[in-house]
Amino acid sequence: MLYGPLDKLRKGLPLRCEIDSDAPAGTGETVLGPVTGGILLSPAGKTLVAQGYLDVELEMQCVRCGRLHPVNLHIVVERECSLEQIDDPSAYLEEEDLGPMPIANGDDIDLSELVRQLIIINVPPRPLCRPDCRGLCAQCGADLNEGSCGCEAEATDPRLSALRAFLREP
Ligand SMILES: [Zn+2]
Ligand SMILES: [Zn+2]
Repeated sequence: MLYGPLDKLRKGLPLRCEIDSDAPAGTGETVLGPVTGGILLSPAGKTLVAQGYLDVELEMQCVRCGRLHPVNLHIVVERECSLEQIDDPSAYLEEEDLGPMPIANGDDIDLSELVRQLIIINVPPRPLCRPDCRGLCAQCGADLNEGSCGCEAEATDPRLSALRAFLREP
């Protein structure tokens, strides 16, 4: 994700980057299709501000039923950046108080690390294939979205187990 030489930014001029490229490696998720969007880089004193948005589609596993399903991420970008070299990118993810994100790769603007981290930060922690996903039966493992398996009521309704206990009495 290279966006030309740093000269313009070094001179304090803003630069608009149209994003339409493959996701940077190492997001940890299966990315379906390209990352699109637009980011405006505006120099602000010694740092610069990246503002804009990104859209990307991920394939994620539902936390209730395990189904793989597409998740559309719309990411609003508002991040302080610097013209420092990207040296050890992982260092910028570990701290709560994130410092300016470096975007220099040699003499070029490189937004791949910025985009990679924005995707990681915005991945939903508990993805659902649909808001009302019913998940799997804890006993037989049947997908309850496809209908009841029959053992659900038995396990959870205390009145039924009381009745069964009663019927088992000699
Ligand atoms: Zn599900
Ligand atoms: Zn069941």
